[in-house]
Amino acid sequence: MSTVAPYSESTGENQQAGFSLELNQDQRDIREWAHGFAKDVIRPAAAEWDEREETPWPIIQEAVKIGLYGFEGLGQFHADVTGLTMALVNEELFWGDAGIAMAMMGTALPVAAIVGAGTPEQMGEWIPQCFGTIDDPKVASFCVSEPDAGSDVSALRTTARYDEAKDDWVLNGQKAWATNGGIAAVHVIVATVDRELGSRGQAAFIIPPGTPGLTMGAKVRKHGLRASHTADVFLDDCRIPGRCLLGGKEKLDAKLARAREGTRSNSQAAMQTFEVTRPTVGAQAIGIARAAYEYALDYARERRQFGRAIIENQAIAFALADMKMEIDCARLLVWRASWMGRTGQRFTAAEGSMSKLKAGEVAVWATERAMQILGGNGYTREFPVERWHRDAKIYTIFEGTSEIQRLVIARAISGLQIQ
Ligand SMILES: Cc1cc2nc3c(=O)[nH]c(=O)nc-3n(C[C@H](O)[C@H](O)[C@H](O)COP(=O)(O)OP(=O)(O)OC[C@H]3O[C@@H](n4cnc5c(N)ncnc54)[C@H](O)[C@@H]3O)c2cc1C
Repeated sequence: MSTVAPYSESTGENQQAGFSLELNQDQRDIREWAHGFAKDVIRPAAAEWDEREETPWPIIQEAVKIGLYGFEGLGQFHADVTGLTMALVNEELFWGDAGIAMAMMGTALPVAAIVGAGTPEQMGEWIPQCFGTIDDPKVASFCVSEPDAGSDVSALRTTARYDEAKDDWVLNGQKAWATNGGIAAVHVIVATVDRELGSRGQAAFIIPPGTPGLTMGAKVRKHGLRASHTADVFLDDCRIPGRCLLGGKEKLDAKLARAREGTRSNSQAAMQTFEVTRPTVGAQAIGIARAAYEYALDYARERRQFGRAIIENQAIAFALADMKMEIDCARLLVWRASWMGRTGQRFTAAEGSMSKLKAGEVAVWATERAMQILGGNGYTREFPVERWHRDAKIYTIFEGTSEIQRLVIARAISGLQIQ
């Protein structure tokens, strides 16, 4: 048998060292740590918080105590140069319970927006406030969607007007379906500064804790992810200091000027930003799918009908084989896109969107399969599988629906403005 390693004609180097699917010791340790918390703290509390439909503050406090929730923790996950740790932690926490994990990880989204658009000073000022302190933890919210602007974010109606005399911004409008909306310490609001310019006329603003003019609207009662708070947010002459414009006024003025001159937008840069955050969302969906697969595998070994374990029927065993294969396939896409984002590769085929699309659809499908394997028990609230199925469904809807992901991939591979 040949033992010759892959060899690059052009560089003459052995390429084997450049790529490995073996996790390093740090990654394995962090994954085990997150798994322990998910197994011992999150999962036992999952049914209760799903029924209560409230933010699980006691669980968040437990996570703060061990450093799993907080800006230092998040910084540690981001520090991994391969980009995998963030995905690993998300998969484990969402394996525990998606509603509770979203109550914890929902804050990562506004933080990503601050990191993506803010200056170093803004990051230093606002990111710690998103998480609060050990004694008084907080959450944060990222509000883009509006009642008439979901998939089409260029249609935002929330306005931001500059009051030059006071160097203030004044925001007015309504945000919809905001995770942690109204209960957050820090809200990051995307608003339009010049509506005629569509998404190129928009900017992101920090609303500091306790700012008058921001109020919570109706809390949304949901199908799944019920321990995660979702609500409308109203902005009524909400006045914030000039320094709360992410990236600063000079940068925004230059962007608006370019848009008015009709200079081509840097759509590649915008696409890259989404591509970087989407694999993390995919990892969450994989956590739910894996929970359902593992539960169904154990159940199929135990449950006996016709004098044998139901797993001894190919119909059941093959379903489990397909579930395992699809979950692993989705995870590989998530790891690839996580690695690409962290190492600055170009997403030429929207690989980030691909990973989120595949993982979301696998989660819905695998949780449905798991319910089938559990039979009547799968349909009852006495067993967790129906909850996992309810939780999984959001992954084909938020952070870009499955249709929008397909659109992004289709445009990336064709170079055409597919409608
Ligand atoms: C639990 C939850 C949490 C959320 N958290 C947040 C949050 O924290 N911040 C935030 O800003 N938003 C949040 N959202 C909003 C979420 O991002 C939107 O619901 C999502 O983007 C879809 O928008 P929409 O609901 O308006 O659907 P629509 O855009 O109205 O889409 C309806 C259907 O039409 C399809 N469709 C639309 N346009 C096209 C097209 N061009 N081609 C093909 N099909 C198309 C869609 O795929 C979908 O199937 C959350 C939503 C939920 C339910």
